[in-house]
Amino acid sequence: MFWFFDELSCWPIGLLMTGFTRTRKGLVPDQKKRFDLNRSNLIAADYNKANDKKGLTMIYPDLPLIDLHRHLEGNLRLETVLELARKFNVTLPADTVEGLRPYVQVSSRQPGVMAFIEKFNLLMKVLGNEQACFRIAQEAVLDAANEGIDYLELRFSPVFMAADHQLNPSAVVEAVLAGIQAAAAESGIQVNPLGIISRTYGPQVAEQELSALLSYADKIRGLDLAGDEANFPAQLFLPHFKKARDVGWHITVHAGEADGPQSIWDSIRLLGAERIGHGLAARHDAQLLKYLLDHQIGIECNLTSNVQTSSVADYVSHPLKFFLEKRLLASINSDDPGISAIDLPYEYNVAAPKAGLSETQIRQAQLNALESAFLNSQEKLALFTKKQSNSLL
Ligand SMILES: [Zn+2]
Repeated sequence: MFWFFDELSCWPIGLLMTGFTRTRKGLVPDQKKRFDLNRSNLIAADYNKANDKKGLTMIYPDLPLIDLHRHLEGNLRLETVLELARKFNVTLPADTVEGLRPYVQVSSRQPGVMAFIEKFNLLMKVLGNEQACFRIAQEAVLDAANEGIDYLELRFSPVFMAADHQLNPSAVVEAVLAGIQAAAAESGIQVNPLGIISRTYGPQVAEQELSALLSYADKIRGLDLAGDEANFPAQLFLPHFKKARDVGWHITVHAGEADGPQSIWDSIRLLGAERIGHGLAARHDAQLLKYLLDHQIGIECNLTSNVQTSSVADYVSHPLKFFLEKRLLASINSDDPGISAIDLPYEYNVAAPKAGLSETQIRQAQLNALESAFLNSQEKLALFTKKQSNSLL
């Protein structure tokens, strides 16, 4: 742990390292981390919005805009989908953007998470070779930069992307990483890729998926578990996540979206999750809420996605506001902007106020994303300092 300039009171933020310690009882999160928000003036309610050069926005320009939970597979441009379909002779239900939209985007509430995931299947049919994978990765990063995002953690499942055209998953990983790198260099956005194990394929395929990702271990920042949470619990993936932790990857797990609080507990205790994707079910477990707070485990909230999958009844019912009131490290993210027909500014400017968040809470969520990012202290400080300097110009 160390404090940066804190004693001099010229810098409001303390930076601490994050991680887990292995003990005989298993993984124990370090007592820990973080930008110490309570000691800062950063969330003062009287923050001068006149400094906000963008005008009517809930995004604070003196803080980095960060998306920690975004799937590459849910982030394709529809024009690209049509073009790739023509190239690989894939028959789609429509040959115009407007015609295709209802088949791959969600405009009304779906009966559940798996119905939402169905939308991906059509999109994956157009990934006919590695160049297509490179292209969608490149475009996803450029689109994120255009949204004003400063730092992105972009996740992808190579086996899911490879499945339709039986591509080599390792070649898919290589292409995606190259696409991300090319677009990051071009646009200046900072990106860390996260690998996904698709739990829906079961533990054996997960081995292959992990092995494809591990071939590029030094270019990937962390591992996620996604897919059918209700039918493929964390217990099936213990060895996979041990290997991931052993190479130093950070861990985040989709949990508490389609299953109860136990799924979140298992993700933390069995898989070593430092962050939880969605985490909705945590609201029903007081002990878990305390644990998440005590151990500063981040919750990647996805407001519109959760409404569309019927995981919550509506925006007002979303627990993000409750999590922030409990001082949990909850953040605002986009999940699948291409399928939800949203972007991150929409989630800040429209979805978050609909979910009842005050300006101060939205600011807190923006800071929480920085705090729970899979970055080291120096990287967080660099991101923060850059935005602070720019906002004074
Ligand atoms: Zn997700």
